[in-house]
Amino acid sequence: MIYLNGAWMPIEQAMVPVLDRGFIFGDGVYEVIPCYSGHPFRLREHLARLQSSLDGVRITNPYSVERWDELVREIVVKNPMVDQYVYLQVTRGVAPRDHAFPKDVKPTVFMMSNPLTTPPQEQREHGVAAVTVADNRWLRCDIKSVSLLANCLLRQTAIDAGAVESVLLRDGLLTEGSASNIFVVKNGVIITPPKSNFILPGITYDVVIELARAHRMPLEIRPVSEAEVRDADELWLTSSTKEVLSISSLDGKPVGHGESAGKPGPVAARMYQLYQDFKRTVMRVPANV
Ligand code: PMP
Repeated sequence: MIYLNGAWMPIEQAMVPVLDRGFIFGDGVYEVIPCYSGHPFRLREHLARLQSSLDGVRITNPYSVERWDELVREIVVKNPMVDQYVYLQVTRGVAPRDHAFPKDVKPTVFMMSNPLTTPPQEQREHGVAAVTVADNRWLRCDIKSVSLLANCLLRQTAIDAGAVESVLLRDGLLTEGSASNIFVVKNGVIITPPKSNFILPGITYDVVIELARAHRMPLEIRPVSEAEVRDADELWLTSSTKEVLSISSLDGKPVGHGESAGKPGPVAARMYQLYQDFKRTVMRVPANV
């Protein structure tokens, strides 16, 4: 069951007018919320990021946080999967085609839920391949916009190279992945770029930083150079669906040094475990909190 503008229906019956500005201009924003055994993970944080994306593109939030909260919990109940990811998007609405914002238009709200499949065991054990690509996206990557053409092209560059993710570089610095945030480990220190207009403020990124701090793991949040990416002991990508996943080869070369070169490293293994434990803690909280 999906949700469209106030109604529940099977996805096959869901229709959006062709003049929806999401279709014409990619004029909208979205969120992806993982839900474990019916429990939305970090829902408040996802809804706060939704609000900042909406503010960034000047769409009035059609619902209160409480209403969104209800809808997310409702869609999870209406769908049978144990673990799901809820996708929601808000576009500016339907109007005759004109770049300028239409007056008095109602945003289009769409929500669906799909099975949440985290990376397979094989990827966990061996890590994944990534390639570096020049980050040619716009300068508001902090907005979770449905205009994802640049991200799609960047991701496809990775796929065409037989890899799973692109590690993006802008002006000699690491930004993020095409659909993930990136962490570097060097000499036991976890390093990741600070939040800025160049990266999406990942919910998983925040969780990883919180866990590193809580467990007194050395952490630096600062610009990361291309040289540091290439010389890393470990490289990870993080996202709500991929969680914490090691990148074991970059541009065809093994990541890391010595014996652990080309394999997921020990800091990644620790963080992955902390993340799993943290997820379980959240799932013990009653569903209505
Ligand atoms: N950056 C980009 C460009 C992304 O698309 C994503 C995943 N949606 C992320 C980072 C990770 O964000 P999150 O941890 O909230 O899934």
